[in-house]
Amino acid sequence: MEVSKIQPHATEGETIMKRKRSRIVLIAAFVLIALVASFATGVVADQIIYHGNTKSKIFHKPDCRYYNCKACTAQFSSRQEAIDAGYRPCKICNP
Ligand SMILES: [Zn+2]
Repeated sequence: MEVSKIQPHATEGETIMKRKRSRIVLIAAFVLIALVASFATGVVADQIIYHGNTKSKIFHKPDCRYYNCKACTAQFSSRQEAIDAGYRPCKICNP
């Protein structure tokens, strides 16, 4: 008699636990997908990819030796953004 009274309560508690856990898993999965998607597309908020030379109007990739030049103060998050700003790709690093 006692056992049958405790049993339904225990399973109910277990069900709530499972629901909570599945919600956490769902949130974790969503965050993971969002992270992977942002990495795959390269669209991470305010990420600077290219540097533009304000004097020569040429923009460079991060691996270019002119990337951190004195006049390379312009920053672009995409190739298109640099082109739209009137910059042309560097002939050495070919961004
Ligand atoms: Zn370059």
